[in-house]
Amino acid sequence: MHRNHYDTEHRAFGESVSTFIEKQMTPDYEKWEAAGLAPRELFSRAGEQGLLGIQVPEQFGGGGVHDFRFNQILGEEIMLAGVGAAGLGITLHNDICLPYFLRYTTDEQKQRWLPGIASGELITAIAMTEPGAGSDLAGIRTSAVADGAELVVNGSKTFITNGINADLVITAVRTGPERHHGISLVVIERGMPGFERGRNLNKLGLHSQDTAELSFTDVRVPLGNVLGEVGSGFRYLVSNLPQERMSIANAGVAGARAALNWTIEYVRQRKAFGEPIGALQNTRFVLAEVSTEVDVAQAYVDACVAALNRGELTAEDAAKAKWWCTELQGRAADKCLQLHGGYGYMTEYPIARAYADARVTRIAGGTTEIMKEIIGRSLKLT
Ligand SMILES: Cc1cc2nc3c(=O)[nH]c(=O)nc-3n(C[C@H](O)[C@H](O)[C@H](O)COP(=O)(O)OP(=O)(O)OC[C@H]3O[C@@H](n4cnc5c(N)ncnc54)[C@H](O)[C@@H]3O)c2cc1C
Repeated sequence: MHRNHYDTEHRAFGESVSTFIEKQMTPDYEKWEAAGLAPRELFSRAGEQGLLGIQVPEQFGGGGVHDFRFNQILGEEIMLAGVGAAGLGITLHNDICLPYFLRYTTDEQKQRWLPGIASGELITAIAMTEPGAGSDLAGIRTSAVADGAELVVNGSKTFITNGINADLVITAVRTGPERHHGISLVVIERGMPGFERGRNLNKLGLHSQDTAELSFTDVRVPLGNVLGEVGSGFRYLVSNLPQERMSIANAGVAGARAALNWTIEYVRQRKAFGEPIGALQNTRFVLAEVSTEVDVAQAYVDACVAALNRGELTAEDAAKAKWWCTELQGRAADKCLQLHGGYGYMTEYPIARAYADARVTRIAGGTTEIMKEIIGRSLKLT
């Protein structure tokens, strides 16, 4: 279906992203998958190309553009090119971490961090999840106790995307006993004594994405590294999660479209019983279903992104986009892999990796069940 969602500038930006991927990511992708992470230089190269810090004010070296459609097209190109795992670090940096550095920082913090975030010299991560608290975000236990002009942080986090590469980790900490009002956000920096990185975790998919455990032992964090107000962290997280979920939903629908594109190519040339697989009615029906679902989901995602740009996207609508598009991504990857037969199980085919990579999107950033809880609560059933 034709989309009127993008204008000439977005499409031109999308082309520059596509060229960047072709030159700077695709040739080394296999190597990164084997190594378990993409190199830090990927970020500085992306920064040089103007792909980072789209919303960072120009005075700090960013694009100064408040239009999530640029983030969206970047995320789409990454998925369509089949380099989703390595690209996730970039979309997390741009779509999920950056808003905290724009919204809750003082002028001094902006000067200190934004130029590096826009250039890719400072890689960001966000650490909410702990070994004992994931869906139940308000149950975190990592503590931050005031001591003069510092907070002393103790605890651990797990499953942190960009965990190995990150220089600035937005860390949710407990500064008080109140379940929600006792949570604050602090930026813990590479090299702070007591901040250690654990294992780069072995995952089912997303192999070129570093996902790590982090530990904090008496880390002395200056009060100047607190984001916004002490005690407002939970509120900040809740208000930024809709954009995080749109980033994941966008990758979900683009991932489903990528699976469809690769499979159309494949069934045109693969033959069985003397004719292309594409000539079989089952193939036509399966791909007709995927194609329909992708177009319908895309229309909803585009409408949500337009609402996000207007400042009107609700938590429920973002939750609907997140669970629907990530479940679609999983369904599409599964059906399309089936049409590849045994080749679909071989990692040299992008569909095999896409299948494994897709599994996590129904979990990270809030599970499908938590999304349905958010939507269900909004229906005021009791
Ligand atoms: C690859 C990867 C990258 C990640 N990146 C990050 C990151 O960068 N930063 C970060 O902070 N976190 C990250 N996460 C963590 C992710 O957000 C959590 O795994 C997720 O929120 C689920 O939490 P959990 O793993 O503790 O599962 P649990 O909360 O233990 O959930 C287990 C099961 O119980 C269900 N469940 C829980 N509560 C309810 C409920 N109220 N109603 C119904 N069902 C429920 C869940 O849906 C799930 O099926 C990442 C995870 C992965 C796997």
